[in-house]
Amino acid sequence: MNPRPRGALCAAITLAMLVWLHSVPLQAREPDPWSAERLTRLVSQAHARFKDVKDGANADYIPELAKVPSELFGVAVVTVKGEVFTAGDTDHAFSIQSVSKPFTAALVMEEQSPGVIVDKIGVEPTGLPFNSIIATQLLPQMSANPMVNAGAIAAVSLVTASSPGERFAKIMGWYERMAADRLVVVEDVYRSEAATNQNNRGIAYILANKGRLYADPLEAVDVYTRQCSIGVTAKQLAVMGATLANRGVNPMSGKRVMKGDHVAHLLAVMMMAGFYNEAGAWAWSAGLPGKTGVGGGIVAVVPGRAAIVGFSPRLNAAGNSIRAMKAIEYIAAELGANVFEASR
Ligand code: GLU
Repeated sequence: MNPRPRGALCAAITLAMLVWLHSVPLQAREPDPWSAERLTRLVSQAHARFKDVKDGANADYIPELAKVPSELFGVAVVTVKGEVFTAGDTDHAFSIQSVSKPFTAALVMEEQSPGVIVDKIGVEPTGLPFNSIIATQLLPQMSANPMVNAGAIAAVSLVTASSPGERFAKIMGWYERMAADRLVVVEDVYRSEAATNQNNRGIAYILANKGRLYADPLEAVDVYTRQCSIGVTAKQLAVMGATLANRGVNPMSGKRVMKGDHVAHLLAVMMMAGFYNEAGAWAWSAGLPGKTGVGGGIVAVVPGRAAIVGFSPRLNAAGNSIRAMKAIEYIAAELGANVFEASR
């Protein structure tokens, strides 16, 4: 073959390859990091990797929580498409505790406005433990933000209702729409905390004294305590989180639960204060908005993608479940889910 036709042939082949590359969607060329196979594998790998971690201890300042079997461990991912991936004890209902806080704040935003959270509660992190009384004295807003006890009790008091019963029923109904499922209160945990929650009663009176609580203090604490005792499974909690990831539309029911525009405000405050005095370390390592609870549950939200949930009762000194943190961090890192990562 003389050189000219060979050159023309090479050019034609190159052109054909370029046309083909353009016509094939990017996803078909690169394996999808969020494929169902990959998520199935990552969730079971996370469970297998951390199931033998024995560090930490159950919360015991609420006596009933000390009785929850420490070995329980569940990992769940629910995507915005409604896919569910689970490993371990994801059908065990545990008390939601502080993971309830963003959802009640969302209800207040929906009933009133996001501005009410800023004006009547606050959005500043405390850098202090979740039940800090000192924080109420250090910060001008007193209640700090809706992710700590002071702000969460204030949020409960802002839910519009003419009685504590109605207020709790509203909160429960709201959580059920977030979960697209029926939920029940873990009564033993409620009774146990109601008998021992003097610190929260103190916080409520401190707020009420300065006009920063918007209902009767003892009633607000009681509804808050009952809210914290609502039982959720890791799977249900992941659906609640996936509703946030899906900009307020529940991926299971297909129904809009909250206004899409409110979700970013909520995720911002979760990022700043969802892990109490470990929020900085969590943002550094996982880079995801999330919320933890002393029942051992943690929900992390990957906006536009999914919620990742871990549940295991043993906590570190800040009150965060050690296995759950590790499992979520592992899955998030493998997926490249960090919200600060430009390539995600
Ligand atoms: N009900 C618990 C309390 O008020 C919630 C604490 C938490 O989960 O961080 O102490």
